[in-house]
Amino acid sequence: MGPCSAESREQVLDTARQLKEACGVSSFIFRAGVWKPRTRPSSFQGAGEEGLQWLAEVKRTYGVAIATEVATPEHVTAALKAGVDYLWIGARTSANPLAVQTIAEAIDRFAVRPLHCKTANAVRPAAPVGLLIKNPVNADAGLWIGNIERLEKTGVPVMAVHRGCGHKPCWSMAHIVRTARPDIPMLLDPSHMSGDAAKVPELLPKVVELGLDGVMAEVHCNPSQALSDAAQQMTPREFRDSLDSILSRFCLASLICPSNESKELEWLRAEIDELDDTLWETIASRMDVSRRIGIWKKANGVAALQPERYKAISEKLKVKSEKLGLPSEFIERIWDLIHEQSLKQQE
Ligand code: PEP
Ligand code: MN
Repeated sequence: MGPCSAESREQVLDTARQLKEACGVSSFIFRAGVWKPRTRPSSFQGAGEEGLQWLAEVKRTYGVAIATEVATPEHVTAALKAGVDYLWIGARTSANPLAVQTIAEAIDRFAVRPLHCKTANAVRPAAPVGLLIKNPVNADAGLWIGNIERLEKTGVPVMAVHRGCGHKPCWSMAHIVRTARPDIPMLLDPSHMSGDAAKVPELLPKVVELGLDGVMAEVHCNPSQALSDAAQQMTPREFRDSLDSILSRFCLASLICPSNESKELEWLRAEIDELDDTLWETIASRMDVSRRIGIWKKANGVAALQPERYKAISEKLKVKSEKLGLPSEFIERIWDLIHEQSLKQQE
């Protein structure tokens, strides 16, 4: 846990102090990004190597392990020299297997050699304690698994982090990875998954329901002033409070029935909930386009009901129903309902 970005020495140390007060020291790894892969070049790009010194100070002052994001071999070297314990690979880098490969090779150079081999004037930095690999920005389970394989060649323990795609979970992808690699711990990143601090408490129960292995969340000493991902960061105290309420709920539930079978059902339900969300959101977007078509039709004196168009779509759906392996009557019924609602949008 920790802020999205290391912004200043004061912000990093204050967040660590608040975390220590809220959670104690042994229960978290302190995270902060110093090189931020931002969408726009005008956004805050991170504090760079100076930020590593603030993280190292957190480690010295509070005795916690520290983590940062690496996207290049140079980042790996600088982070390990500063004593960073855990390296994580972000979703954008995770989408590029060549980048992950070069990072793995850089880590390997530290991992395979003797830990305290003296170079000209410094002690060689040790290998990291652990590596975290986020899912790629695109929902590609195979690539995520491939990246796990690339990193585990270093011999350093690897954990997967499910941060979702865009600001949504992608349980189907996570389920594939969980099934293929049950030996790899999987953490939930509810902050990037939702992009909204208010939604983080709704996502946290998934850790227990799905039998995940932990949480990688963003907390900030003053979230509204954060230079990156301000909307999704909570204060350490807020995070602790939502964790507490969930834990007390699950302590009771876990006395009842957390078997492997029930976890599999929960994974499948998570997948189906996600598909339902997509379904309803797609229908809502369709109605929106339909409304805009209605405006155009009115402006151009065209009737809302166009029997030819209705018929053409019905014919297309008959062919599609075969391809999809769904009964044509079932598709027809749904299409009629959608069409009826669409016409209402154009009244
Ligand atoms: C982060 O953890 O701060 C981050 C940039 O995450 P992601 O790669 O998941 O967007
Ligand atoms: Mn972030």
